[in-house]
Amino acid sequence: MRDVALVTGSSRGIGAAVAEALALEGWDLCINYIERQDLAEALKAKLKSRGCRVMSCQADVADAGAVAAMFRRIEAELGPVTLLVNNAGIAKQMQFQDIAPESWRRMFDVNLGGCYNCVQEALPHMLHEHAGCIINMSSIWGTHGASCEAAYSSTKHAIVGLTKSLAAELAPTGIRVNCVAPGVIDTDMVQVLGQETLEQLATEIPLGRLGRPEEIAQAVLYLARAAYTTGQVLTVDGGFMP
Ligand code: NAD
Repeated sequence: MRDVALVTGSSRGIGAAVAEALALEGWDLCINYIERQDLAEALKAKLKSRGCRVMSCQADVADAGAVAAMFRRIEAELGPVTLLVNNAGIAKQMQFQDIAPESWRRMFDVNLGGCYNCVQEALPHMLHEHAGCIINMSSIWGTHGASCEAAYSSTKHAIVGLTKSLAAELAPTGIRVNCVAPGVIDTDMVQVLGQETLEQLATEIPLGRLGRPEEIAQAVLYLARAAYTTGQVLTVDGGFMP
């Protein structure tokens, strides 16, 4: 049976770097995206030209029906998912009192609900095979609090709880569950902070710079192969958090 990876939110940023690294290391791959089909198609074409077996699928991970349909398509085109990377996420900085109820709900629906929907779909085959790997994308704000990040930080803390609980529950079945906690990574997500703030942040990071998406992809590759590692939070932040 072939190794089939699904990386959610992989048309750009960290997800795209993870998708590329996995495909080049031999995983068959589904690139998932919610928007910017052009970017997903460009990545697919690039990886296909390198001989990788790749498909792309538009689906909002917060939509259980769309996620179920995506898994059926992946099974038909590549085979059942054996590595699930729950990467799709949204962020928004604002003071707690300014967070509208729908904004709070959407953050949970995408960041945490997306994990729930994808794990629900991935598990039946993994349980049947007594094998499989799930890697969730948390954040340093999933282990530390941050001003004006209450909603985002809450979802990322929940992802750590989900990871550790699922790891304990699924270990006897041979399925591993881990998460990565990136620091400040140079992607579209952090551009809202502005160049000046990002430069200031870089000076506060012991390694003296923001991280690169490819450096998070290396952590995901490590966890995908780390057969004796489960329930862990791998922080990759240039030494930012104490
Ligand atoms: P990004 O905004 O560049 O990319 C996010 C990706 O998720 C995009 O492809 C987007 O289209 C997709 N996405 C968003 N909502 C979706 C949905 N409902 N369904 C499917 N796809 C959806 O951000 P990034 O920096 O690449 O972030 C990737 C992950 O890493 C996120 O979970 C984020 O919280 C996490 N993270 C990022 C940083 C950072 O500094 N960039 C730090 C810690 C954690």
